[in-house]
Amino acid sequence: MPLVLTGRRTAGGRGRPPRHLADLSLAERRAVVAGLGQPPFRASQLSRHFFGRYTDQADEMSDLPRAARDPLAQALLPRLLTAERELSCDGGTTRKTLWRTFDGALVESVLMRYPDRVTMCVSSQAGCGMACPFCATGQAGLTRNLSTAEIVAQVVAGARLLADGEVPGGPGRVSNVVFMGMGEPLANYASVLAAVRRLTDPVPEGMGISQRSVTVSTVGLVPAIARLAAERLSVTLAVSLHAPDDELRDTLVPVNRRWKVAEVLAAAWGYAAATGRRVSIEYALIRDINDHAWRADLLGSLLAGRLAHVNLIPLNPTPGSKWTASRPAAQREFVRRLQAHGVPVTVRDTRGREIDGACGQLAASAGSPRPVGR
Ligand code: SAH
Repeated sequence: MPLVLTGRRTAGGRGRPPRHLADLSLAERRAVVAGLGQPPFRASQLSRHFFGRYTDQADEMSDLPRAARDPLAQALLPRLLTAERELSCDGGTTRKTLWRTFDGALVESVLMRYPDRVTMCVSSQAGCGMACPFCATGQAGLTRNLSTAEIVAQVVAGARLLADGEVPGGPGRVSNVVFMGMGEPLANYASVLAAVRRLTDPVPEGMGISQRSVTVSTVGLVPAIARLAAERLSVTLAVSLHAPDDELRDTLVPVNRRWKVAEVLAAAWGYAAATGRRVSIEYALIRDINDHAWRADLLGSLLAGRLAHVNLIPLNPTPGSKWTASRPAAQREFVRRLQAHGVPVTVRDTRGREIDGACGQLAASAGSPRPVGR
């Protein structure tokens, strides 16, 4: 079913989501539980339900005394996201969910199952303020930052589908998380960092996903990249470069007017040095805009010898845009020239195109609502 891209701000965005245990450290959860007159170990029990069994339903918590279930769930497990619509393709192995937040904002997440892994692509903001002209989310502006728990809840929802065997391929787990949905994660630094910790800390503190399997993607907010490097995490940094020269990047990624290509790459190499992690350079190939052979050579010379690889993304044209993906021959030549500089390069697969679930297609979409329950 085609989605209607409204291109306007979503209705919501007023206020702070209710407190949820995923916003809190385990010690803080214990304090809340104690404040309700319950023994602090109940915080671990609740956390195991949410992070280990992916449930927030009080009636499923048979290890808690019946009388304590509702008060505890109400205090620490409020329902933050309601599925407004679900779309799937690739035989059910790619699933996009449109979520409505408590205040009516709309955000999307995408689950992608591959033979060897399951990746959840999550949103960090409702909308985005970075205004990249080729990106669907960038067109509507920023509604608000998501809370830590609103980010984590997207992953938990995917984990629940997998655990319940609702994704073809048998029961499974979320192995990877990419912050490549709606929003600029480093513009919502505190919530995103706490979400990374919650996703990667072991149960019951968090969900127990490997840090190395988490990718934070940014337009290149230089001070925030430096700050992330200092956290000493082993998450992968992806930098959305899209042009090797300032003249073009100023238009494709407007924040480049503040932090230039050289500064962004210097910050990326700082991140690689601090973490030992290879940085992913994202480059959407746009026909006759940024796919010239000379730009491939310039990009190759900037990246040669660095701890980096290039992820080329065939542009997903957004509705109304005059831009489209590169011709196959131009794409092949771009790859060849990068390789000639010794730069590792992959071409991203474009899963989920039919459901507007592919890179840069996530825009809160309203239309005739088709509620799908929880
Ligand atoms: N704000 C962050 C993360 C969200 S976008 C960032 O910019 O990195 C995730 C990736 O999809 C980014 O590399 C982004 O540039 C890319 N993207 C956005 N719109 C796209 C489109 N129409 N086609 C292909 N890639 C796109």
